[in-house]
Amino acid sequence: MSERVIPLIDQRLVSVAARIPPELTTPTGLLGDALGRPLRDLRISVTDRCNFRCSYCMPKDIFDKDYPYLPHSSLLTFEEITRVARQFVAHGVQKIRLTGGEPLLRKNLEILIEQLAALRTVEGQPLDITLTTNGSLLQRKAQALKAAGLQRVTVSLDGLDDATFRAMNDVDFPVADVLEGIAAAQAAGLGPIKVNMVVKRGTNDQEILPMARHFKGTGIVLRFIEYMDVGATNGWRMDEVLPSAEVVQRIHAELPLVQLDASAPGETAERWGYADGSGEIGVISSVTQAFCSDCNRARLSTEGQLYLCLFASQGHDLRHLIRSNATDAQLASAIAAIWQGRSDRYSELRASLPPDAGAGTRRVEMSYIGG
Ligand code: SAM
Repeated sequence: MSERVIPLIDQRLVSVAARIPPELTTPTGLLGDALGRPLRDLRISVTDRCNFRCSYCMPKDIFDKDYPYLPHSSLLTFEEITRVARQFVAHGVQKIRLTGGEPLLRKNLEILIEQLAALRTVEGQPLDITLTTNGSLLQRKAQALKAAGLQRVTVSLDGLDDATFRAMNDVDFPVADVLEGIAAAQAAGLGPIKVNMVVKRGTNDQEILPMARHFKGTGIVLRFIEYMDVGATNGWRMDEVLPSAEVVQRIHAELPLVQLDASAPGETAERWGYADGSGEIGVISSVTQAFCSDCNRARLSTEGQLYLCLFASQGHDLRHLIRSNATDAQLASAIAAIWQGRSDRYSELRASLPPDAGAGTRRVEMSYIGG
């Protein structure tokens, strides 16, 4: 038996002011953190709201009508987001992922995508711009997103069985509508598409094989995510984690797999190809096989807090700098100083603790900093 831990303080309020260092740093695209890890990937949460209530992420009993979502005035504007993103790109970011909450709930998101698509990497290349979505609004928006400059999407889908899926999203949303969203994204050319399935033992692990069979040979890469102890409200327990090794075993027993090389340094997923050449799957094993050593991701919350780890309990307030007339050079230097001080490696440290030691620890919610 585990007890649901309800946070007594609002973790969003725990932040340190981003400071302008006395000597400004000129961005070179080669910024490294305290462990020598570069900054390549920026995840931007554009809203803390979602129309799903997945129990592992935004459980209904906490995220109810009384939950204090951020007021509109707290949100970074598109101009503010683009300005911050530009500084990150100058420090070496090559990929931007829009997330949330449900990013497609943010009004006129296409305008932000257009602005981000105009940025260029230090090498003068376009950024890799992608978005993670629950797919519910994708059918309506896929064309416009593509036209704005979005390159690809990752769609979250936790099973094909309608009853299982409706129970997991906890708002009775049908699986068929997400599948139509995926089809619309494919038709719009938002590829290669990835589908993320969070696996919870005893809840949807019976969906692993049906999902593998369904997406095999479609060009869509299905990725299985270990249920993680993010946030402080999902009542996470180690016995509900199905290790990725077991996912691979179960699929391999029916559909033989061969391990593939990582596609890029810092890639979160371990890749496995179908032995018959009909595509690949990925497994993301943050719990059983930490990948902190090459983590090159920064996260910008909806209201401009910079988080250095998905499991962080404190952010660095960039919005204050942005709204207090800091120059671009000052903003870039503040970001550099924060990244240079980064030594976070939560998942590696968790691995050395007893199984449930981290459960209920005060951590910021994933819906706030983005997945
Ligand atoms: N609403 C969008 C979506 O559904 O993809 C984006 C935000 S969501 C927080 C991003 C990803 O995080 C989703 O794939 C979701 O399944 C995953 N996620 C949320 N909570 C998780 C948890 N406790 N463990 C593993 N993955 C989780």
